[in-house]
Amino acid sequence: MSQHAAAIPSRGRYVNSGAGPTLLPLDIGHPEFMALVAPDTAYWSLVKRENLDDALCQGPILETYRANAARFAEEMHGLRFGLAPAAVYFNPTERCNLNCSYCYIPEDLRRNGAHMDRARLLLALAKLKDHFAATLPNTRKPQIIFHGSEPLLNREAMFAGIERYAEDFLFGVQTNATLLDAAAIDFLTSHGVGIGISLDGHTPEIANRTRATWNGAGVFDAVCAVMDQLHDYPGFSVLCTITTKNMAHLTDIVDFFHGRSVQTCMLNILRCTLPHAREVKPDDATAAEHYLAALERTHQLYRQTGRKLIVANFANALLGVVAPTARRLMCDISPCGGGRCFFALAANGDLFPCSEFIGLQEFAGGNIFEQPVAEALASRAFAAVTSRTVEDIALCKDCAIRHFCGSPCPAEAANMNGGMDRQGAFCEFYEEQIRYCLRLIADKRETDFLWDGWDEGVETVFDLRLA
Ligand code: SF4
Ligand code: SF4
Repeated sequence: MSQHAAAIPSRGRYVNSGAGPTLLPLDIGHPEFMALVAPDTAYWSLVKRENLDDALCQGPILETYRANAARFAEEMHGLRFGLAPAAVYFNPTERCNLNCSYCYIPEDLRRNGAHMDRARLLLALAKLKDHFAATLPNTRKPQIIFHGSEPLLNREAMFAGIERYAEDFLFGVQTNATLLDAAAIDFLTSHGVGIGISLDGHTPEIANRTRATWNGAGVFDAVCAVMDQLHDYPGFSVLCTITTKNMAHLTDIVDFFHGRSVQTCMLNILRCTLPHAREVKPDDATAAEHYLAALERTHQLYRQTGRKLIVANFANALLGVVAPTARRLMCDISPCGGGRCFFALAANGDLFPCSEFIGLQEFAGGNIFEQPVAEALASRAFAAVTSRTVEDIALCKDCAIRHFCGSPCPAEAANMNGGMDRQGAFCEFYEEQIRYCLRLIADKRETDFLWDGWDEGVETVFDLRLA
């Protein structure tokens, strides 16, 4: 018998050694519970602190995990590597009428750039329709989200596209709201277009610190007027970007949104891809403190009024913990959604993995007017993003929550920290967010933070909490 054949492989009898399962204890900051996390499969269970040693040596958590680990691994692999793009962030213009301090689109483009003309916009939609017809099941409608700079500066072409392709795509628009007059609102709402507007404060003084015209004039009043008209439109949401200029006021901002009957908002931590954005970059631990306080405030308001203000980016992170494969946004999984679940189309036709890369020409995978979309999706520029995994990032590869966090954002990592194999800007922020998710679950409060009906179509494959 050869020496190799004589070797006895590990039978995986013990946790965290040999071929045994990896289950890492995680302090979630809860007085009673800790989490046990299997990082590779994003499986977790909450365990009473005093039962931790038993849970790691024997009992139902271990047995059930052993029995289901292969299935969890397969599902995680499908989520990470098995999806096809189904959405496009479509920039119909390079120009913007505002000069927000943290914008990811280079200033020269926003000041002097071009519109995509009507004929080219319609042609781009035709090419996208053909691409998705060949790659998606016909039961699935792809999404087109018209996106910044300021899409409504090219309103006539954009509306022509929405009208012509109403049957082929689900449309949305993310806008600074300053050009949403009554006719535009009527057109968009009557065509069922999702509308996201941006507002960073609850007073003109706070909101205008980061979002103002090229002359420095604030736009708070104009945005509030739109918010009041749209608050009960089902596809409406308000996006607030967290910076040094507003983080201390997040709780007031949440009060303000709830008071104006907003149903869905986003409290997104700043992206630090471009150097000028970093001038308003908050410290991550301090930002997390304010962010979690604001989330708690949404809960208090819900309890007091019975009316939820869903913080969609947080709900998505929470969903990533509760039902990992049901998450809707794709910044918090690696590879992230950029180039993999969606891609971005610049106004000159260039294709990028995500809007965050627009203007960084080395990440252009091709041009929709010059080559098939599929060719751009398979380009080396796209592969640089779609192949970025937490396993290749020194500081993330051993992190217990790596498949809840995803180590965003590749654009930040490359431009701020020197490479795709680096972290982005806000590790501690993401750590605190996930620990908070697990505390909510320990306290059985998690559904209060999720959309009503969030679990429709979600299959419970394993539910063993509070063991
Ligand atoms: S992590 Fe960054 S590049 Fe990836 S989808 Fe999010 S914003 Fe885009
Ligand atoms: S960024 Fe931080 S929290 Fe996220 S996976 Fe990396 S180490 Fe973990």
